[in-house]
Amino acid sequence: MPDCPQCHQPVPEQAIACPHCRYTLKAFGHPGIPLYQSEGGSLCTTCLYHADDTCTFPQRPYASRCTLYTSSTPAPDAMPYQPSLKNRLQIWLRQRGGWLLLGAIAVISLVLALGNR
Ligand code: SF4
Ligand SMILES: [Zn+2]
Repeated sequence: MPDCPQCHQPVPEQAIACPHCRYTLKAFGHPGIPLYQSEGGSLCTTCLYHADDTCTFPQRPYASRCTLYTSSTPAPDAMPYQPSLKNRLQIWLRQRGGWLLLGAIAVISLVLALGNR
């Protein structure tokens, strides 16, 4: 359960406003639209859209509240997936298994044809 950024009391995940202090937690009164808020300073300084210069919001670069804020530093659990050697081998075989089988049949056929001479 997240905490209210203003009164720091626990609030339900889908709450539109804090039940304790009525602080706005979601944008446009919709529980599915998160409203990111800074705790002092601008959100833009750590936002991906500020870093890559694609944000066109007028509140940039001084936004203290924003619906599109995206951190420019990836979360540790968002690091790229690194499959193990075994998994990479399985993927490689799954992608090329048909060609390997076809090649094996061709080699066996060639060996049998040459052996019958
Ligand atoms: S998306 Fe929001 S937080 Fe990000 S740069 Fe634009 S205004 Fe700032
Ligand atoms: Zn609150």
